[in-house]
Amino acid sequence: MKTWIDTLNVYQPGLPIEEVARELGISDINNIIKVASNENEFGPSPKAIQAMNECTNQMHRYPDGGAYYLKEKLANKLNVLPSQILFGNGSNELIIFLSHLYLEPGRSLLMSEHAFAVYALATKLYQGELIQAPMKNLTHNLDAMLNLIDSRTKIVSVVNSNNPTGTAVKPNDLEEFIQEVPDHVLCVVDEAYYEVMPKDKQLDIIKYINSGKENLLILRTFSKGYGLAGLRIGYGIGSSSLISKLNKIRQPFNVNAMAQSAALAALDDDEYIEYCRSQICNGVRYLEKEFNKLGLETVPSAANFILVKTFNGNKVFKDLQKRKIIVRPMNVYNLPDYVRISVGTTEQNKKIIDAFSEIF
Ligand SMILES: *Cc1c(COP(=O)(O)O)cnc(C)c1O
Repeated sequence: MKTWIDTLNVYQPGLPIEEVARELGISDINNIIKVASNENEFGPSPKAIQAMNECTNQMHRYPDGGAYYLKEKLANKLNVLPSQILFGNGSNELIIFLSHLYLEPGRSLLMSEHAFAVYALATKLYQGELIQAPMKNLTHNLDAMLNLIDSRTKIVSVVNSNNPTGTAVKPNDLEEFIQEVPDHVLCVVDEAYYEVMPKDKQLDIIKYINSGKENLLILRTFSKGYGLAGLRIGYGIGSSSLISKLNKIRQPFNVNAMAQSAALAALDDDEYIEYCRSQICNGVRYLEKEFNKLGLETVPSAANFILVKTFNGNKVFKDLQKRKIIVRPMNVYNLPDYVRISVGTTEQNKKIIDAFSEIF
């Protein structure tokens, strides 16, 4: 065995509702509010639900390994070539593929401190070196990141909006950054929250790929705005040559058939996705306002969750759990004072605020 595997950390997901229900001795899991994993509390698009129901009797078949129809439809929607898209078992899987393609001992991945943990885990998995740049006001500090790039750097990742801080960089700053990253470094822009971002924060960087930029990869997912986290499907957009290399790393059937059907239908439901986006943006503003009224500081969010500063994130996490609300403590992100809370429905948001009012 490779004994260094013992040094790897294990990703700590949000607590499953069933586990909390067992702990609290609650039989009806509908009584529990889980706002710990940035899921879409409005659920999948009705069109996606219908598509899933309609394909259940085909589940004895292997999926289309090339995801032909889905790729065609998405390519059309994004105005890129099908050869510029690769699907993954969640965009998390694509982060693993990238690390497989670029990292080994002596090569590094550069990311921000307090940014999405999977980049760090993937780097270690391929024995790459992890370089973490300081943030500024819990936002990516793009200048500091550029300054840390050296000849060993192979990947730089910018998570926009960032998980777990919720912050987005200024669109102009990101455009400059993309152009300044040297050619020997792949610039990954993780846009997992693209569909839920306020309109003025959404930036079209696909144009750089269309204009021939080879060292840029955009990651998006159906897990957040599209509300299909359980199906595990995300995608990367990049140059055809990069995508064809990544394509060699994946398993032949890495994206399951039901996920492909649901995603195909969800892409036809702009109206629903837009409804979720506006509800979520309103929810962020509501939570911000109410937390601030309670004297709690919040971090400006361009995502479907909000980071709240308390006196002790772990304690607040436990206090909320007793009130049947699951949030995410932030010790693993080295932000022990904070909890991260996904935006829920109007009713859920109100219950969250009521629980905080009892605690504070
Ligand atoms: C949620 C999230 C992902 C996506 O995960 P999936 O594997 O597609 O479910 C990727 N990046 C960030 C920053 C995220 O927060």
